[in-house]
Amino acid sequence: MENHRDVVIIGAGAAGLSAALVLKRARANVLVVEDGTPRNASAAHMHGFVSRDGVNPAEFLEIGRREVVGYGGEFAHACVVDATRSDADDGFVVTLDSGVLVSTRAVLVATGLTDELPDIAGVREMWGSAVHHCPHCHGHEAAGRNLVVIGGQVPAMTLHQTALLRRYSDRVTLCPHDMDIRETERGRLEAFGVRIEDGTVARFRGDQGHLIGIEFVDGTVLECEGAFIAPQPRPNDMVLHALGCATVPDTGWVAVEGPGATSVPGVWACGNVVNPRAQVITAAGEASATAIAITSWLLEKDLEAAAERACASRPEGRS
Ligand SMILES: Cc1cc2nc3c(=O)[nH]c(=O)nc-3n(C[C@H](O)[C@H](O)[C@H](O)COP(=O)(O)OP(=O)(O)OC[C@H]3O[C@@H](n4cnc5c(N)ncnc54)[C@H](O)[C@@H]3O)c2cc1C
Repeated sequence: MENHRDVVIIGAGAAGLSAALVLKRARANVLVVEDGTPRNASAAHMHGFVSRDGVNPAEFLEIGRREVVGYGGEFAHACVVDATRSDADDGFVVTLDSGVLVSTRAVLVATGLTDELPDIAGVREMWGSAVHHCPHCHGHEAAGRNLVVIGGQVPAMTLHQTALLRRYSDRVTLCPHDMDIRETERGRLEAFGVRIEDGTVARFRGDQGHLIGIEFVDGTVLECEGAFIAPQPRPNDMVLHALGCATVPDTGWVAVEGPGATSVPGVWACGNVVNPRAQVITAAGEASATAIAITSWLLEKDLEAAAERACASRPEGRS
């Protein structure tokens, strides 16, 4: 069993690093465990984070990591495979894939989400370079280009993306692919200047992150220079479920109240693992607020423990 920690942070993306920085500056004993697979790893540039707009995501994380290390933060490169309540105290035991067990007073889960990409040939190879999901992140760079949106697993998001992309380009085509689209929606988008091409998409054509067209199963090709899709977001929340955290009935995502508090005292979560809409700046901001809430929670426990010790050491009869 490794040293008892105040907080084990699982995940070192924007959320995990931001929380680690705030907790280390509050002099907490923190271990950050991360397996090195941040969500935006395939993108060369990150946008919308004031003061860091256009930076390479890996460089952004490296800067954050150096800042945390500068305050004495420790990192373990490992995957967390389990977490349980500790038998010895009211803390937790976190299990790494190396077999190492780490005991801790609190757990902060910042493990992000996984984008479930559609089963279309070429999408994986171009994900993050020519195929995007978020106009706010990459619409500006695609401005004026010939763009397609491929319908899929999250129809509401697809329809919103399609309309939003008209802000950036007057050449936007929606390929509903296997998504049902109501006549009213079709009419609204067409009135908004969107072209709609029916048919099943077989593959993205192009190479080395350079998209030249969409090929349908009948062999016809629609030329384009950039594509947007709406992948199904799957939270990486195995640890939160292992610890018994309650979920939001409608979505099945783990519920948090205030900044990052789950239903299990001492278990916290922030960033994409509980909020699919969080961008890098939002994930970092939520994590900062969560770290401050964790600091208060630990302090309250320390105050209670000190009062109990003082009470126990008083002579009989004195209060
Ligand atoms: C292609 C693409 C481009 C994007 N571009 C932008 C952009 O330009 N601007 C923007 O604001 N947002 C962008 N985003 C969104 C951005 O990626 C997220 O907002 C951000 O990553 C959320 O941060 P996070 O810390 O919650 O999760 P992540 O950054 O995904 O970090 C989660 C971390 O947890 C670790 N982890 C997961 N499970 C475990 C485990 N069991 N044990 C140990 N470690 C674990 C992972 O290795 C990872 O380091 C983009 C997303 C994609 C997919």
